[in-house]
Amino acid sequence: MKNGTCLKCSSSEIYHSPENGFYPASMHSYGMRVMEGEGFWEEKVHVINLEHYVCRACGFFETYASTNDPNFGLLEKASNWKKLSEEQK
Ligand SMILES: [Zn+2]
Repeated sequence: MKNGTCLKCSSSEIYHSPENGFYPASMHSYGMRVMEGEGFWEEKVHVINLEHYVCRACGFFETYASTNDPNFGLLEKASNWKKLSEEQK
């Protein structure tokens, strides 16, 4: 989708919403929550903006966390996200 071609139907009718496509990320509802620190008082909540792609031909819809978001780098030390290879140990 990111390259402008639909993964499902190969159409090039791809539309992209670089800002959160539903609501502003400040509403948190549709942003990706990243928790930093453990415990009630130490915990900080950050939000990573989401980017949406939709195919006008077939309606296939895809969502990515925005790698341009300044909070994207917090993923590595987030308490609520674990790298899959480390989680399976
Ligand atoms: Zn499509």
